[in-house]
Amino acid sequence: MTDLDSRTPGALADAERWTAHNYHPLPVVIADAEGAWVTDVDGKRYLDFLAGYSALNFGHRHPGLIAAAHAQLDRLTLTSRAFVHDQFATFCHSLAQLCGKDLVLPMNTGAEAVETGIKVARKWGYQVKGVPDGQAEIVVAAGNFHGRTTTIISFSTDPEARNDFGPYTPGFTIVPYGDLDALTAAVGPNTVAVLLEPIQGEAGVLVPPTGYFAGVRTLCTAQNVLLIADEIQSGLGRTGKTFAIEHEGVVPDMYLLGKALGGGIVPVSAVAADRAILGVLKPGEHGSTFGGNPLACAVGTEVVRLLETGEFQQRSADLGTRLHTQLNALIGHGIDAVRGRGLWAGVDIDPARLSGRQAVERLADRGILAKDTHGSTIRLAPPLVVTPEEIDHAVAQLAAIL
Ligand SMILES: *Cc1c(COP(=O)(O)O)cnc(C)c1O
Repeated sequence: MTDLDSRTPGALADAERWTAHNYHPLPVVIADAEGAWVTDVDGKRYLDFLAGYSALNFGHRHPGLIAAAHAQLDRLTLTSRAFVHDQFATFCHSLAQLCGKDLVLPMNTGAEAVETGIKVARKWGYQVKGVPDGQAEIVVAAGNFHGRTTTIISFSTDPEARNDFGPYTPGFTIVPYGDLDALTAAVGPNTVAVLLEPIQGEAGVLVPPTGYFAGVRTLCTAQNVLLIADEIQSGLGRTGKTFAIEHEGVVPDMYLLGKALGGGIVPVSAVAADRAILGVLKPGEHGSTFGGNPLACAVGTEVVRLLETGEFQQRSADLGTRLHTQLNALIGHGIDAVRGRGLWAGVDIDPARLSGRQAVERLADRGILAKDTHGSTIRLAPPLVVTPEEIDHAVAQLAAIL
């Protein structure tokens, strides 16, 4: 970027000129990528320690995923759900088995999976639990991030996500994250679901107290309330297990999946639950033109295949220990706190030294891409194909900017 012939400034200006400013990207213009590395338009290489907010768990252009996509592109890409295609059952069957659930409902984006989960929980509440019509309540946690639709931002506690987008969808109760007493007090006879992230990503990679989810599970079972785990960012290997909630020894009633499910190639999301829950939907009551399309299913099937080996979960667990050990050694040396599990870390930078934004800008100068969140916190989430040496290198750059 110091090079006078650099293509980056022009490309940045064009991006600014032609788009709504709903993002504040780092001044990097990426042209190609492979594995854990991206290259910008000037040929500068960066280690990607954001990995598309975990949409790139298997790295950029994983060979197996690219091959599956290419093969499908040459055969069939879209049918709509008006017809069945030959990739559909394979994907839904393999994903249902990965989740240990009876059924899968494929959608596209994470927000759509959350919306689907909300609709299913409400319908289940009326038809199965017997909640009076229009009275269904869903309990969520403060600091949540579940997406950007009008209903989802209705129960956000982030003013930036919410302000000026009302009127808001009713039917949600917000309690502090990780506080079982508050959750217990909030669950009433009309509560149909508790919707939680097993680890709150956008909030700064917040891990709840040990035993919290076991308590939530017991409460939900006792009160006949669905436990919905939003594993869109935390799931599919990120934390060292297939699902982050596994660390708590808990099985939710419904998984919401997205991000890495599309292999970094196409948007693929899904809801997984047993027949007693997902079976409440009848033809015409919910759908999506692109949901479960052949290309998405072909890629998604390959994603499930990669996860079935357990290799990526193990890598995340092993390399996560390495990452966290090194980050913890920086506490008191410019870092105030480190949270997370597996290859996922929320790092609180000493605000007297750097803001989160300054930290990620300086990391980018040194060839490491990461993202700040809320003030002085930065998030590190490299693709699970990252090597031990690349982790050491990235942490060394972080130590250097501090
Ligand atoms: C990213 C995310 C979503 C929304 O996914 P989109 O594909 O951006 O709609 C929902 N929940 C969590 C936990 C997420 O991280």
